[in-house]
Amino acid sequence: MAGLTLEHVGKKYPNGYEGVKDFNLDIADKEFIIFVGPSGCGKSTTLRMIAGLEDITSGTLKIDGKVVNDVEPKDRDIAMVFQNYALYPHMTVYDNMAFPLKLRKVDAAEIDRIVHETARILDLEKLLDRKPSALSGGQRQRVAMGRAIARQPKVFLMDEPLSNLDAKLRVQMRAEISKLHDRLGATIIYVTHDQTEAMTLGTRIVVMKDGVMQQVDTPSKLYSEPCNLFVAGFIGSPQMNFIDATVGEAAGKIVLNFGGNTVTVPDSKAEALKPYVGKVVVAGIRPEDVVEENEYAEGRNLSEAIDAAVTVYELLGSEAMIYGDVDGGAISAHISAANPARTGSRIKVAFDMDKLHVFDKDTELAIVH
Ligand code: ADP
Repeated sequence: MAGLTLEHVGKKYPNGYEGVKDFNLDIADKEFIIFVGPSGCGKSTTLRMIAGLEDITSGTLKIDGKVVNDVEPKDRDIAMVFQNYALYPHMTVYDNMAFPLKLRKVDAAEIDRIVHETARILDLEKLLDRKPSALSGGQRQRVAMGRAIARQPKVFLMDEPLSNLDAKLRVQMRAEISKLHDRLGATIIYVTHDQTEAMTLGTRIVVMKDGVMQQVDTPSKLYSEPCNLFVAGFIGSPQMNFIDATVGEAAGKIVLNFGGNTVTVPDSKAEALKPYVGKVVVAGIRPEDVVEENEYAEGRNLSEAIDAAVTVYELLGSEAMIYGDVDGGAISAHISAANPARTGSRIKVAFDMDKLHVFDKDTELAIVH
């Protein structure tokens, strides 16, 4: 297995469009790295440059310390799994997995050993004689993975490998890929537009937008300390609430004013906001950190109460989401299913100020978490 280094990697397409700009990343051996971001942000382009399917127009790509910019795809020791898992329809599962090894002239006994070992890892042993047409979507995807694993590459690249599967199967395969990563101890680079997939699979996540890397961090760090408004809004579902607020000072404390509401900022976050007194900032608070009056709890650093009018109620099972209007903005909150708040209710909510994020309105960068 292997580590990768991308230094100032960029891609300018022949029409002049810059699909990826100044991408810098060190990927350690055995990492599970996710590239995530909205469609068109440059995820696949970056992955394809690593695979060698797309020229790198600036910068350097190293695998195991060796520059591979001009190395042919087949010589990079990388296996790629795509969303269209294109198995050979006339071949059995066994032959589908054996084919890349035959091409590399591996001897028959060794091929047989590798295919059986791979089938065991992926729970495909009973399906080795079947043709792809006699397999379910999930089984076909496992065979496609098997074909990649059988090649024993240094690095696995996966481009939205689950996006053609239905929701239930996707969750199942997600867990399998996670187990597979543990078992193989492989370096995996995985592209998805789905932030849930990114959060559950990755050891580190690269969030991209418009060809530019926004933040690289562990899932929990991305969630608790997003570096800018884009990352804060992209990671987390339902998404973080954003409210324009004016920073003020009252009785020696820093406060945020929006509409007729005032919330006092805890001392731990006040210092960073002092230069913003008199200016408008964006306050960010996740739905689970907006607490309805019936659920006020010890141990939460709650703000002053804010009146809200519930406009939408969604029961999710043991929990519910409410969406409502407050003076100066709109707010969503996670509440318990036992909470009596419903559409049309007038309620009070408070923010858990320890979980408050504040962003600069002009630069969109985080000021404080
Ligand atoms: P993602 O995988 O994040 O959806 P891509 O990496 O496929 O995005 O594409 C990044 C950007 O580069 C997009 O805006 C896309 O339209 C553009 N792009 C992709 N291929 C080409 C090409 N051959 N010529 C010009 N622009 C391209």
